[in-house]
Amino acid sequence: MARSLAIAGLLAATLAAQPAPSGAVLYQNARLIPGDGSPAIERSALLVEGGRIARVGSAGSVTAPAGAARVDLTGKTIMPALIGTHVHPGFQRGLSYVAANFTRDTVIEDLNRALFFGVAAVLSHGIEAGDVLYQVRADQQAGRLGGARLLVAGRGIGAPNAGPGGATYAGIAYEITTEPEARRSVEELAARQVDIVKIWVDDRNGRAPKLPPALYRAVIDEAHQRGLRVSAHVFYHDDAVDLVAAGVDAFAHLVRDKEMDDALVAAIVKKNVYVMGNLTTPLRPTYPSLPPWLTAGDPMMTLLTASVPAAVVARMQAYYAKRDPKSVEGARQRYGILQRSLARLSKAGAKVVLGADTGLEDHFFGFAEQLELQAMVDAGLTPAQGIVAATSRAAEFLHLADAGALQPGKRADFLVLDANPLDDITNTRRISRLVINGATIDRASLVAQYR
Ligand SMILES: [Zn+2]
Repeated sequence: MARSLAIAGLLAATLAAQPAPSGAVLYQNARLIPGDGSPAIERSALLVEGGRIARVGSAGSVTAPAGAARVDLTGKTIMPALIGTHVHPGFQRGLSYVAANFTRDTVIEDLNRALFFGVAAVLSHGIEAGDVLYQVRADQQAGRLGGARLLVAGRGIGAPNAGPGGATYAGIAYEITTEPEARRSVEELAARQVDIVKIWVDDRNGRAPKLPPALYRAVIDEAHQRGLRVSAHVFYHDDAVDLVAAGVDAFAHLVRDKEMDDALVAAIVKKNVYVMGNLTTPLRPTYPSLPPWLTAGDPMMTLLTASVPAAVVARMQAYYAKRDPKSVEGARQRYGILQRSLARLSKAGAKVVLGADTGLEDHFFGFAEQLELQAMVDAGLTPAQGIVAATSRAAEFLHLADAGALQPGKRADFLVLDANPLDDITNTRRISRLVINGATIDRASLVAQYR
């Protein structure tokens, strides 16, 4: 056991950050989706130098320096790498999903798998024990470690037993009952330089007390005073209304007791609250039988089988072997509420971002983001809107000024796809090449050890 862990650690350590290549590379003739909402360039030229995007334009309009390498991408599509804004790394290792898995190696596995699926940055959302994630973030920032870029929320904040549900997460969140505790929690998180503060406002189906308004107001006030923002897990419509009034900065979920009404949607738009759809965990029980993405030959299955153990894929498929029509119908009704809320938000101009509760059991890094993007488009976003939510707007939310769009000065983090995702959003899974920091990544080597 100790020996195999040591070997896994050694392999993980070899997946270091890729230094930016020194030479210039001109990628020519691909369709290019900038990710910032501007139209695609049908025959493009993209010049990359020193890991950054130097110029973007139509083929022929961009001159490359002498000696630049040229890559012909005729027939391909370039878009920014994806960004996931709601992940929980560290809990799953093969078939097991337990607190003891929460180690540096497991976190690195998740971040490598994210990158394999085309996800270049992720924000962990508050189920974070000890120092592991802080150390991974620091090592990435120092260039000592690769994988998808990790941002952290540290320990999230909830009422006693009303934080993350399930024994796996027990004891991780702050459990507060007074305003001084609320402020002290935020003070500690600020000292660790978290990227956001996560709160849970939910009674967990009547099982626990909800975080009271006075306490979440104290958290939000203390966070804002310290230059931090607050993302709320929410369940009930009434709580969402009050959280917007209290100044919350993001919703980590849609409300689930009913469809968001016009007043709530308008308030979210007016106050620039970012919203994660988080459609995919509730999506999965809506299928009466095996979904296309778990069927042999589907691009998602190809990615899954290349990156997770066969026994896990078999477990994911076995779930669909015998579905009860009643529970499928119930799941569909609950799911319809979410779809309609997301469509309303998008139509009203809310800042929708890609967030998938990635890292719950069998909800793998990268897989979850790819599925969420499809779910957002199925709910009513156009593919172009889905791509913005998954790239430039997610980067804006995460304050990653160098990511999320193919514009001069940004990091050269992009996907080369075999087919156009504006025609069919699932084409984001047909990854022909992944470029991170200007370097083409050997994707297979990121995940070979995890199958
Ligand atoms: Zn979550």
